Amino acid sequence: MVARLCKNFEVDELYLVKPKAEINSDAINFAAGGREYLEKAIIVDDLEKALEGSDIAACTSSIVTEKSDPLRQPVELKDFVDMIEGKELVSIVFGRESTGLTRSELEKCNIYLHIGASHIYPTLNLSHAVAIILYEIFRKFSSKTSIDIVERPSQEDFRIAMKYIAKASELTMNDERQRISAIKSLERIVYRSNPTKMELSYLILLLRRLLKYAEKDQK
Ligand code: SAH
Repeated sequence: MVARLCKNFEVDELYLVKPKAEINSDAINFAAGGREYLEKAIIVDDLEKALEGSDIAACTSSIVTEKSDPLRQPVELKDFVDMIEGKELVSIVFGRESTGLTRSELEKCNIYLHIGASHIYPTLNLSHAVAIILYEIFRKFSSKTSIDIVERPSQEDFRIAMKYIAKASELTMNDERQRISAIKSLERIVYRSNPTKMELSYLILLLRRLLKYAEKDQK
């Protein structure tokens, strides 16, 4: 599941430190489209080797209760995402599902990263913790995501929509104050709704057709 997430959020490298499990067909099946990350996973016997060359290394943990422990002074995820701006090589260390990271592993990192969750039970499943952290980093730093395929209206599209809204208002409202208020209100609705290009083009089509009928009617 972690390998799959690496692919989803464009991670560069996946290191496995002293893995107990082998990369078998079960692992490959769960990795789905992220199979390549398992195939090219770099296996090391010491965390230090995995962290070589990092500009910043963050270890992750659900434990924030030991307030006077210098190794467990947490940074919240949203602050961490700001902290890594401009850093080339960011390493994030995840622990064992059973016991998390050892103290000697925590010592090797610069940051103690925590995802704020319920204070009653803040321990996430390992792959869920990976998903949340990668998603936040990806959202902040990736220039293009899958949603960018959706076409957004241009300024010209908005101008045309507003032109038809004004025309329709003029045709249906004699009272000037009411007309001005209506146009402004509809403009606010159109911009606030943040439509896709297709959605806005249907509004334009509808108004254009209605205006055509209305004009015919008037003749
Ligand atoms: N008590 C262990 C639980 C391990 S959960 C601990 O040290 O947190 C398995 C792994 O998931 C953890 O080692 C950590 O990498 C990650 N994780 C789980 N919950 C988390 C949280 N709230 N914040 C950050 N990482 C978390």
